[in-house]
Amino acid sequence: MEMELESILLPGVDPQRPIIISGPCSAETEEQVMGAAHQLASKGVKIFRAGIWKPRTKPGGFEGIGAEGLQWLKRVKKETGMYVATEVATKDHVFEALKAGIDILWIGARTTVNPFAVQEIADALKGVDIPVLIKNPVNPDLELWIGAFERLYGAGLRRLGAIHRGFSSYDKKMYRNLPLWHIPIELRRRMPNLPIFCDPSHIGGKRELIAPLSQQAMDLSFDGLMIESHPCPDCAWSDASQQITPDVLDYVVNLLVIRNETQ
Ligand code: PEP
Ligand code: MN
Repeated sequence: MEMELESILLPGVDPQRPIIISGPCSAETEEQVMGAAHQLASKGVKIFRAGIWKPRTKPGGFEGIGAEGLQWLKRVKKETGMYVATEVATKDHVFEALKAGIDILWIGARTTVNPFAVQEIADALKGVDIPVLIKNPVNPDLELWIGAFERLYGAGLRRLGAIHRGFSSYDKKMYRNLPLWHIPIELRRRMPNLPIFCDPSHIGGKRELIAPLSQQAMDLSFDGLMIESHPCPDCAWSDASQQITPDVLDYVVNLLVIRNETQ
C-alpha cells in the first residue's frame, strides 16, 4: 500500500538527527517523573516519554500507575514545555490519553502483534490528528508490523513513525531483544517516508549497550532514538538495568558521530 505520510515533527522539535525521545520506562511517582523531566529539559530534550500502563511479561510486577500518571505528564508539559508521549494498548487508554492532551502515542511491541488490539486503537483514533509511533512486534514479522501501519493509515492517521526495539529470542546472552537490523532496513525500503527510531534500551537490556546500539542506528540513517532515562536508574520499578541518568543520556548523545548521506 502506497502511504502518503505527514511529518511527525511537532513545532520546535529540531529535525536534525537524532530526534531524541527520553524519559523513564514507567511513571512511578510524581516526584520521579518531574525530576526526570526537569533534568532532561535542561539537556535540551524536547520529547518526554513515560509508560503509564505497563505490559509486563509476568503478573505481580509493577503494572503502571494508570490514569493518575497522566496528570503528572500534564504537569511536565506545563512546567518544562516538553512534548509528552505514552504507550497505549486499548481504546480506553487512547481516550484517556487524548483527554489529558498527550502529544504523541506509541503502540508497544506486545500490542503490535495483535491485529484486534491495533484495530481497536486505530478505530479509537479515527479523525484524530496525532503522531503515533509503532514499535515492531516482539516476533520478527515485518508484515505484521506493516499491517499495523496500514490499520492506522486506514483510520486516517498520517503522522506515523516506527520504533525498532529488537525481536524476542530464547537466547538473551548478548541482547535482550535481537536487533536483526535487516528488518527495519527492509521496512524503510517498503515505506521510504516513514521516520524510524531505534530503542537501544529495549534491544540491549543493559545500559552499556545503549551507546554502541545508538551509533549503529545513526550509521544506518535512523531518524531518532527512544532511550529510557531515570533520575536513579538502579531504583527503577521496571527495566532498571537498561536505564541511564539524564546526564549520561546527554553524554551518550553528544558522543554520537552523525554522518549525513550526500547525494
Ligand atoms: C517500553 O517502552 O517501556 C516498553 C514496554 O517497550 P516494548 O513495547 O518495546 O517492550
Ligand atoms: Mn521499558
